[in-house]
Amino acid sequence: NRDQGTYDTADYQAADGRHHLHPFTDFKSLRSRGTRVITRAQGIYLWDSEGHKMLDAMAGLWCVNLGYGREELAQAAYTQMQALPYYNSFFQTTTQPAIKLAEKLAEVSPESLNHAFFTGSGSESNDTIIRMVRRYWQLLEQPQKTVIISRNNAYHGSTVAATSLGGMRYMHDQNSLAIEDFVHIDQPYWFGEGGGRPVEAFGLAVAQQLESKILELGVNRVAAFIAEPVQGAGGVIIPPASYWPEIQRICDHYGILLIADEVICGFGRLGAWFGSDHFGIRPDLMTIAKGLSSGYLPIGGVLVGDRVAGVLIDQGGEFAHGFTYSGHPTTAAVALKNLEILQREQIIETVAAQTAPYLEAAWGKLGEHPLVGEARSLGLLGAIELVKDKQSRIRFDDKGSAGALCRDICFDNGLVMRAVGDTMVISPPLVITTAEIDELVEKASRCLDKTL
Ligand code: PLP
Repeated sequence: NRDQGTYDTADYQAADGRHHLHPFTDFKSLRSRGTRVITRAQGIYLWDSEGHKMLDAMAGLWCVNLGYGREELAQAAYTQMQALPYYNSFFQTTTQPAIKLAEKLAEVSPESLNHAFFTGSGSESNDTIIRMVRRYWQLLEQPQKTVIISRNNAYHGSTVAATSLGGMRYMHDQNSLAIEDFVHIDQPYWFGEGGGRPVEAFGLAVAQQLESKILELGVNRVAAFIAEPVQGAGGVIIPPASYWPEIQRICDHYGILLIADEVICGFGRLGAWFGSDHFGIRPDLMTIAKGLSSGYLPIGGVLVGDRVAGVLIDQGGEFAHGFTYSGHPTTAAVALKNLEILQREQIIETVAAQTAPYLEAAWGKLGEHPLVGEARSLGLLGAIELVKDKQSRIRFDDKGSAGALCRDICFDNGLVMRAVGDTMVISPPLVITTAEIDELVEKASRCLDKTL
């Protein structure tokens, strides 16, 4: 087969096992089990090389917001590649798509975020922000302000700096850099860590850890606080309503920069352009990726507010930072078209008015299942907590085993959901219809039955 250039599924699996190291994967166990080869997709559905159809309730990796098979995005890439596949914005040049995209982002993002620095991914965006924040305080002659406060179980990416900045314990255990300037406080995870306290009191108390930490370290050392509006990869942790206003108050009071990592929440996921819009957060800086291009091509960015940009521009000289693919014209053209479609088809408005409330009601019913301790959703992000005992909400002894089992059962039954420990999460394409939500929830319910 290989000589003739035609592979069947077994050939692909064998070659994959021999040569391909997958991200966030137990290499050995995947090799013994074999992988599934995804070959095509349309709308919210995927097909594998054996012809199995799956409802992709994860929009790839929280990114294919417009759904699969958008001809216009392919056309935008094709047209731009013919005109100018690549050029950079480094040395006194730039390209039309990069300019238009920066302008568009200033239009749709929260008020002061008028400047865009482009990257190739969310991790690069968070790396960029670390250097940018430090540069800002250096220029203000406060170079000792180097500490960035982040949260336990936060995911900010996989580069060395982003891993260290993030709060995923199991990633730290596998070699992050012990950077003393990255300090972590608790996450607003009521179900897992609230200890039965009233929800809003818990939200307030966890937010106030930021203030305690600033005072403990000294305001003169703290540069910024970074958080996702809703933690995605950590298990769709939706903060209590009391949380964000208190965080905003603390950042304002101490003059600490507030960074919103909107890599998942941005571009309509919560039924508003940004998670910051939904929660009334006024970030000084924002990181974006994923939904910026609906994942059709890799692109990310940092949106910089006037407060920081003013200093960087007027007092900064050269900012010694950038990537070969910063402002890549083809990825920028695709991102621009993606944002145009979001606006033209009023997709975010439809999520807010129709599909998010519909999902909340339908998904919420899964909370009645004997295996589920809580079902929650916000916008088109959802989670269910698997528990051994529904009344006491006691978890399974072998942490993560129920989640992994449920995920595999879903996969074998035509539904892609992700397990974060024993929390099952969804983040379907924003174009999902109410009928498709019914199908998703019905499938999830049947898979829960099989997991019991
Ligand atoms: N920040 C958040 C909130 C994310 O969810 C992710 C990826 O899942 C990243 C950053 C890293 O983005 P990337 O994988 O594009 O580097």
